[in-house]
Amino acid sequence: MCGIVCYIGSKEATPILIEGLKRLEYRGYDSAGIAVHDGKNVHLVKTKGRISDLEIKISNLQIRGNMGIGHTRWATHGEPTDINAHPHTDEDGNVFVVHNGIIENYSILKRRLEKEGIRFRTDTDTEVLAHLISYYFDGDLIEAVRRALADVEGTFGIAVIHRESPGRIILARRGSPIVIGIGNGEHFAASDVNAMIRYTANVVPLEDNELAVVTRDDFNIMTIQAAKIVNRSITTVDWKAEEAELNGFPHYMLKEIYEQPEAVNNAMRGRIDPAEAVPKLGGIEPVWDDLKRCKNFIIVGCGTSYHAGYVGRYIFERLTDLDVDVELASEFRYRKLNFPSNTFVLALSQSGETADTLAAIREARRKGAKLLGIVNVVGSSIARETDAGVYNHAGPEIGVASTKNFTSQLVVLTLLALLIGRHHNLSYTEGAEAIRELKALPGKIKEMLFQANHIQAIAEKYYRCNNWLFIGRKFNYPIALEGALKLKEVSYIHAEGYAAGEMKHGPIALINPEMPTVAIVPQDDMHEKMINNIQEIKSRKGPVIAISTLGDREVKKIADDVIEIPRTLDYLYPILTVIPCQLLAYYCAVLLGRDVDKPRNLAKSVTVE
Ligand code: GLU
Repeated sequence: MCGIVCYIGSKEATPILIEGLKRLEYRGYDSAGIAVHDGKNVHLVKTKGRISDLEIKISNLQIRGNMGIGHTRWATHGEPTDINAHPHTDEDGNVFVVHNGIIENYSILKRRLEKEGIRFRTDTDTEVLAHLISYYFDGDLIEAVRRALADVEGTFGIAVIHRESPGRIILARRGSPIVIGIGNGEHFAASDVNAMIRYTANVVPLEDNELAVVTRDDFNIMTIQAAKIVNRSITTVDWKAEEAELNGFPHYMLKEIYEQPEAVNNAMRGRIDPAEAVPKLGGIEPVWDDLKRCKNFIIVGCGTSYHAGYVGRYIFERLTDLDVDVELASEFRYRKLNFPSNTFVLALSQSGETADTLAAIREARRKGAKLLGIVNVVGSSIARETDAGVYNHAGPEIGVASTKNFTSQLVVLTLLALLIGRHHNLSYTEGAEAIRELKALPGKIKEMLFQANHIQAIAEKYYRCNNWLFIGRKFNYPIALEGALKLKEVSYIHAEGYAAGEMKHGPIALINPEMPTVAIVPQDDMHEKMINNIQEIKSRKGPVIAISTLGDREVKKIADDVIEIPRTLDYLYPILTVIPCQLLAYYCAVLLGRDVDKPRNLAKSVTVE
């Protein structure tokens, strides 16, 4: 999820590692560390905080050495602390590992190693890798890494060095990128080309399930499983460093929209048990007995998280027997709360620091509620103050307008509802169907993203309109709210999100040929009602952009423009329907020359009331 940098050659490794880490810092920045081999010993420095904090710590030490590995962390397991920062080591301080990704079976492996008498020092998943490699090491580091990785489930990009194996860095990848950089009498490696672009443009990316041995003068790539040598030619990149940070995307918002297949996957990874059709959410265990019996459930959040919560309410109603409410955290915190005992309040927040949401859960706690959280930032205030919760694992979100965190929240909400629902009345068949469809979502999102040009053309047609309306019903009513919010946030166009059934109660008076309506009309049980709403708008000469299910001819006949989405379950449609809304907002903002990633007057995480 975050950054890895490695160097081996004849120069001092430390400044190169620090420079590379700085280039990766935008991806994750809760802690950082380096391990540098001086030919005899390995020097390890790590700290909570930014790369600049690491630099200060290093400046007091005399670290020399021509080979090293570095990491900037974005925690998934264990709070951002000095000890949890990477590199991680084995008990004797021989093996040093930096890791991006998640070791899903780390608790099983940890228990296994603890039985062998190995003592763990950190709360991370990564630490098991260091111990495993050390456990298998008998002089051959490649073999030890291969055997360790054979035990591991999950995703990784790793770099490993061993005190007794100077002169070589082992890299490996499954699901998290690692690229080798070729220099003159030196090699680099990083999770992202831009960490080394200053030094070389000649790179060799590893593919999944490959391992590489890198020395000063050479590198060899092989498969992890069979140690079969792989020949790969060198490619030359011509990015400038700033562009590379964006991986070729013009803005973080667009990049993050395109990261949604991965974010959705990460939200599910290791959390689905198809055999039982029940999700596994380890973070919920501390409250599970109460949660199973709870009747009253309230979801709170602000902005986009509130909209995710709103969809969540419908999903919970659909899959569980709970009485569910959703409320803006900024309102909830000032209400007189009269809820029954054994009420659960679930807080949604990307940063886990949203001031109103934090105040809302504190108020709920005072009134006796149990607290759950779905947050993206590990160890954040909401994560610490709730009784239990689930992390999104969406990776850092840089664009101020939230995109991938939203879809990822919806997946986690669905998993939670499914878990509770399967212990209420939800059948195995329905559970299995949900799991099947959830797994198909990343592919369907990719299909949606292929339509970006079409959506851009629609934006070109309408971006000069000063007022827009977004309408939807039931599961997609909150998507209407979210679509309008996205457009407002990044393009500064006035937009309103409405429950389509409300049209006749006021908003229809606004309809004219200058005011486009985005109608979210997938083929669910609200389809007919939505068609009627579209007809009403059309008969008042309002242009309609419909977001509808692939092959829906009825919609095609009446709407001016149609964006088609793949078919899925009624309650999963929002995860697809929101994507064209994000893209529409993005393209309108670009056409209007807005500062997409830093819209005026907005901040990424709102830590004040
Ligand atoms: N899962 C690891 C941790 O929490 C790595 C996170 C990352 O990719 O930075 O430490």
